[in-house]
Amino acid sequence: MTTDEKQIIKKNIEDLKKELGDVVLCAVTKYHDLDETKEVIKNGVTVLGENKVQDLVKKIDQIEEPVHWHMIGHLQTNKVKNIVGKVDLIQSVDSLKVLRKINDESKKKNVVSDVLIQYNLTGEDQKFGFSEDETGAWIDEVKNLPNIRVEGIMGMGPHTDSKSAIREVFRRLKSLYDKIDSDVDQDNVHMKILSMGMSDDYPIALDEGSSMVRIGSKIFT
Ligand SMILES: *Cc1c(COP(=O)(O)O)cnc(C)c1O
Repeated sequence: MTTDEKQIIKKNIEDLKKELGDVVLCAVTKYHDLDETKEVIKNGVTVLGENKVQDLVKKIDQIEEPVHWHMIGHLQTNKVKNIVGKVDLIQSVDSLKVLRKINDESKKKNVVSDVLIQYNLTGEDQKFGFSEDETGAWIDEVKNLPNIRVEGIMGMGPHTDSKSAIREVFRRLKSLYDKIDSDVDQDNVHMKILSMGMSDDYPIALDEGSSMVRIGSKIFT
């Protein structure tokens, strides 16, 4: 890495931290190598997100610094075993099938896995995630999954230039989060993390009550 590249990362993280206040920065290092990822950590970031199992496992194995690793990408059931017990949070639980699989693998390893339920409220069907109508289904399912702990929900804004359309989706995610928080009284369901906001739309997410943003490109450019 050049000194310039290091300076860019440093400045971007400093600026972001000021803007975020208490909101947690999950730095998305998915297109970046070990050196770049370590540079992010050197600047005080303690939560890192990856969207591919293989990259995530490689970084967990090769980076010694004590940081928190989050899986943020779509997870195939056959790869669940590779990350259970290694990651701190799986943000991208997008089906009952993967939820059950995480429970099974967690039981085998004698661990409890922290997860977020991923919602897709964008109306764009290429994205993975639950709809609002499926909320009761995962809550019922989790009753029978003692090795799962739901810590909150995750969602993305729609791919559009319309700030009002993005705001609308984030607002619905926040009200869903609040509703689950007030309605659900279950040992392994707690609304502690509302993960929404990426490089292009995080200011809107902050306005709408996000507690964690997942930011990649804005750190490196
Ligand atoms: C890549 C990615 C991000 C970060 O995207 P940027 O636009 O680079 O900030 C956030 N969340 C998920 C799920 C991602 O895959």
